[in-house]
Amino acid sequence: MNVKTRFPPSPTGYLHVGSLRTALYNYLFAKKHKGTFLLRIEDTDKERLVKGATDALIKTLKEVGLDFDEGPFVQSERLDIYKEHAQKLIDQESAYYCFCSKERLDDLRKQQQIAKLQTKYDRECLKLSKAERAERVERGEEHVIRLKVPEGETTFEDEIRGSITIKNSEIDDQVLVKADGFPTYHLAVVVDDHLMDVTHVIRGEEWISSVPKHVILYNAFGFPLPKFAHLPLILNPDKSKLSKRQGDVAVEDYLKKGFLSEALINFVALLGFNPTGDREVYSVEELIKAFDLKKINKGGAVFDQTKLAWMNGQYLQSKTIEELLELAKPFVQSKVDGEMLKKILKVEKTRLDTLSELSEIIEQYVSLPDFDASVLIWKKADKEDAKAQLEKIAAFLQGLKDSDFDSADLIESAIKKYIIDNDLQNGNVLWPLRVALSGKEKSPSPFELLWVLGRGEGLNRIKTSIEKLS
Ligand code: GLU
Repeated sequence: MNVKTRFPPSPTGYLHVGSLRTALYNYLFAKKHKGTFLLRIEDTDKERLVKGATDALIKTLKEVGLDFDEGPFVQSERLDIYKEHAQKLIDQESAYYCFCSKERLDDLRKQQQIAKLQTKYDRECLKLSKAERAERVERGEEHVIRLKVPEGETTFEDEIRGSITIKNSEIDDQVLVKADGFPTYHLAVVVDDHLMDVTHVIRGEEWISSVPKHVILYNAFGFPLPKFAHLPLILNPDKSKLSKRQGDVAVEDYLKKGFLSEALINFVALLGFNPTGDREVYSVEELIKAFDLKKINKGGAVFDQTKLAWMNGQYLQSKTIEELLELAKPFVQSKVDGEMLKKILKVEKTRLDTLSELSEIIEQYVSLPDFDASVLIWKKADKEDAKAQLEKIAAFLQGLKDSDFDSADLIESAIKKYIIDNDLQNGNVLWPLRVALSGKEKSPSPFELLWVLGRGEGLNRIKTSIEKLS
């Protein structure tokens, strides 16, 4: 069997992280089976259309490396196909015209709600004869086309959840074609998945309740069923459904904030699946190799922003300085030259979670952040000692050769030797020195800071601290 999967987003303006996971799983499954991954734009809901959304979506998919092999197919360009299929259903009485007004339907729904009944169409228009319905359509009366749900029950297999059976009496006579002649999602998705030879429908759990309707449609058309797999919900840390309120959900926003696409992909891949369970970092190749619908969890997956930041940090740390320089470009202003930026990246690499943190970090090298003099005092020392140590180390640094500042390692051996030769404690010297250079309680080592800042700026900063302590 030639496996074919699909990603069929509605172009509503941005790529939701949940949709990224759906796209990724379809991609991984197709690649694993040497199959085809297609993109289809589901734009038949005219009210929800956003201009430019399709192009933006394709751009984002490419940016994160999810290239599709076929498409994009665009549903709004396929209206004749849906019309033809709807006609077939009408002809064989698997669907019928309905003329009920919005007011009547609203009223019906309200009454059913009050009576605590399931809200569904009451088949009023099915009381009309077929000829009568056809005649009213002929006269140009506004109408929709509804699925005529047969009696009995509907069963389907879900690759993740197993066998599911539902009584047809619980299924609504779904609108298949709207009054504007556009198909609804339900008709278009079934027709397209069949005509496009989709073998596996992998999508979010929120669609599982639509499957029985789709199965009825597949049967009415005489189409074989594809395999279905419904992915677990993605949750906020408080276990509610992932929402904008608790953080970003747009992939574009994460990329803008400096998350690497590899990290995002790795992170969303683990929302519902872990190839081996003993580690977190996987390349796309490893994910493809290990991907298995049977290994997908049924329970919801928590979207943990802290873990995403950690994962991004892991990817940043695995980059060479040259790669980081390239990646950092959009996030740094030209306040520092290339040489200095390289040094900053080398020193800060292990502390970085996202590239967008860089501008603030660079700022700290450009000008000393304001800080309280008390931070300069090591826990086992006092103000006088801090001041004296800074004065002495400043004099020592002054006396070093230029070449001693060529690397953080050289600076480190010179200062360590100074500490030993003068019979001093590391903390007494290194704590105030590091705070004086960084203005921060936590920072890279004083040796690294001196290497990045250079002797001149280093001494300036030490002088500032001595004044603070005076
Ligand atoms: N257009 C639907 C969406 O926006 C696709 C659902 C499906 O995969 O069938 O998610």
